Amino acid sequence: MRVTSNPDRGGSVWKSHRPAIQLKTPAQIAKMRAAGLLVAETLQALAAAAQPGVTTAELDALAEERIRAAGAVPSFKGYHGFPATICTSVDEEIVHGIPVVTKRLREGSVISIDCGAIMDGWHADAALTVGVGEISGEMAQLLTVCEDALWQGLAQARAGLRLSDISHAVERAVRSRGPYGIVEEYVGHGIGTEMHMPPSIPNYGPPGRGPLLRVGMTLAVEPMVTAGGRGTELLGDEWTVVTADGSWSAHFEHTVAITEDVPWVLTATDGGSARLGGHAEAAGATAGSTS
Ligand code: MG
Ligand code: MG
Repeated sequence: MRVTSNPDRGGSVWKSHRPAIQLKTPAQIAKMRAAGLLVAETLQALAAAAQPGVTTAELDALAEERIRAAGAVPSFKGYHGFPATICTSVDEEIVHGIPVVTKRLREGSVISIDCGAIMDGWHADAALTVGVGEISGEMAQLLTVCEDALWQGLAQARAGLRLSDISHAVERAVRSRGPYGIVEEYVGHGIGTEMHMPPSIPNYGPPGRGPLLRVGMTLAVEPMVTAGGRGTELLGDEWTVVTADGSWSAHFEHTVAITEDVPWVLTATDGGSARLGGHAEAAGATAGSTS
């Protein structure tokens, strides 16, 4: 999601007016989990299909077919006029790349695939970046750094912490790995009955700021990390965001629910239990049975 006014680094975004954050019942989160599983499975299929010679339009068709076959609706298609089911952003493209028949994947590239689906009125949103064929060690490392940073952020999605604890964990994880760029103009967001809802979730900032995290909040956390600087540019298609310095970029995203226990990663097949060291699915079930 684009930040309409670029916040000062680590500053004003936490002091700005705070619109209400939608809280979901356990039954509503269960619906988001169904959408999340569909997004997870779709992204896994797309990651496997992202081979040299495949076009981004072919990946898009695959995604739309899977989502509609499950009785769901692609969140992105028609969203502010976006023409496709997924965003496909290759190499120096960061986010919001439009799938096209003329864009054929090449060995050694990296492609970020962002996918959202609506099931029974509830959204889930996730993204991943994969290498096309063999990629360089440097690029493999970039992908690992970005994905690890996402999971460090997700681990902070706990009731009683504050929103910027997520942001801070993401930034700290990236900074600890090297001189990478953390994109600031595009941020994570609340999600539920709409794809983009309050609050905005930057991928940087001091800890302990912003709204208190509460059971029933669902958030899309999505770091964008570059091998160079943090600056971005918008291409002439008015969608595709690229790095200003041409460096390559990674993007990982999950939708997470705050439960009474472990964060429940709704767009991870295992609910996040492998990465977060708990039993997230069981935690979600527990939250469901206590209301
Ligand atoms: Mg997304
Ligand atoms: Mg998102």
